[in-house]
Amino acid sequence: MNRAQNGPLPAKLIPNLGLKHRNTFGFDASAELAYEITSPEQIPAVISDIAKQKLTWRVLGGGSNVILPESLSGATLLMNITGQEMIASDEVATYLAVGGGVNWHELVIWTLENDLPGLENLALIPGTVGAAPIQNIGAYGVEVADYIDSIEAFDAKEQAFVTLRKEACHFAYRDSYFKQNPHRFIVTQVVFKLPKIWQARIHYADLATQFFEGSNPSPEEIFLAACKIRTRKLPDPTVIGNAGSFFQNPIVPQEQFETLLKTHTDLVSYPDATGKRKLAAAWLVDQCGFKGQRMGDVGVYQNQALVLVNHGGGTAQDVLGLAKCIQDKVRAEFGVSLQIEPNIF
Ligand code: FAD
Ligand code: NAP
Repeated sequence: MNRAQNGPLPAKLIPNLGLKHRNTFGFDASAELAYEITSPEQIPAVISDIAKQKLTWRVLGGGSNVILPESLSGATLLMNITGQEMIASDEVATYLAVGGGVNWHELVIWTLENDLPGLENLALIPGTVGAAPIQNIGAYGVEVADYIDSIEAFDAKEQAFVTLRKEACHFAYRDSYFKQNPHRFIVTQVVFKLPKIWQARIHYADLATQFFEGSNPSPEEIFLAACKIRTRKLPDPTVIGNAGSFFQNPIVPQEQFETLLKTHTDLVSYPDATGKRKLAAAWLVDQCGFKGQRMGDVGVYQNQALVLVNHGGGTAQDVLGLAKCIQDKVRAEFGVSLQIEPNIF
């Protein structure tokens, strides 16, 4: 059959698909019905199929920011669209179009190999390119939104493919229009805009201490430094299940911050772009004595209090139970509510 004339094969349908290896917590989960999406053209038929059967649905990328129950009813769309290419270049920037299923860290490596710096602070973040704009991934003072030009997605509400320019994506701190509208958009491609003038961003203490004062590190050196710090500080999901930071850093009004500071003089916080104050959630959790603690098969990572881990055999219920203990204690001690970052399916 001539694919160019007849379009791609329909999405592969897989009943009762085990997802233990497609979620970084390593929870034993299975999808009632999984559709493997390898091309955007497959999506309208899949969504229409799902609507006819009145199924609930969700998209799964690399599973590094999700909490999966034992059984996912309805349809699970596995985002496996690959492909990346430079689509344009002008005096100010190079534009890259990248498929939603491309591995994020591999993209970062590819950009550096092709002399297209910018994404190096975001090295070693697990997951796919299509998921990166959902929570506007960020690390060491850089957010993916800084480099996004536009997003191609299927809008299930409008039953149409849409292009959202960066401004329409409402990117904010670990937030976006996509996150605010769950079960609506399926991100098929991200167009990145990588400026030709590059500047190192090493103001985070962990990164800064990797370099001599006044030195001018290259993008590759920053990439290697970020990888080194993360490897030391964060648990490797292939060894200990986890979904990175379990709680978002709470952003509180300046008055609340000042009140807290009176009783907790060593409170770790940073100014927020909106004039509020960002509290380090890891510090709050650590102060409540949870770092390194274990509750059955789940626990709080010994090197990073923000990371909850599955020691093996843990479940979504277990980790949410531990999270509730932490949230309750932090609220009682500091009057601050911690929001769970990973998506609960
Ligand atoms: P998944 O976990 O599969 O999905 C996450 C959410 O996005 C779900 O709601 C899903 O439905 C939705 N989604 C996924 N793909 C699509 C798509 N194509 N279209 C529409 N919706 C979609 N995050 C950071 O921001 N900064 C970090 O530094 C960071 N470090 C991490 C370190 C570790 C060790 C781990 C385990 C996680 C870390 N994370 C970090 C969280 C995670 O890696 C990111 O959120 C990542 O972008 C998730 O990608 P994913 O493909 O695994 O998405
Ligand atoms: P860290 O460098 O020890 O910093 C602790 C917290 O303080 C971070 O949450 C960070 O906020 C904040 N912070 C530190 N320096 C700051 C500065 N100069 N300006 C503003 N805020 C500052 O954090 P870490 O745990 O080792 O993680 C390093 C980076 O990777 C962080 O940016 C973190 O967000 C990211 N990360 C994210 C995840 C995830 O799953 N979301 C997992 C691991 C690491 P921010 O979080 O706002 O940067």
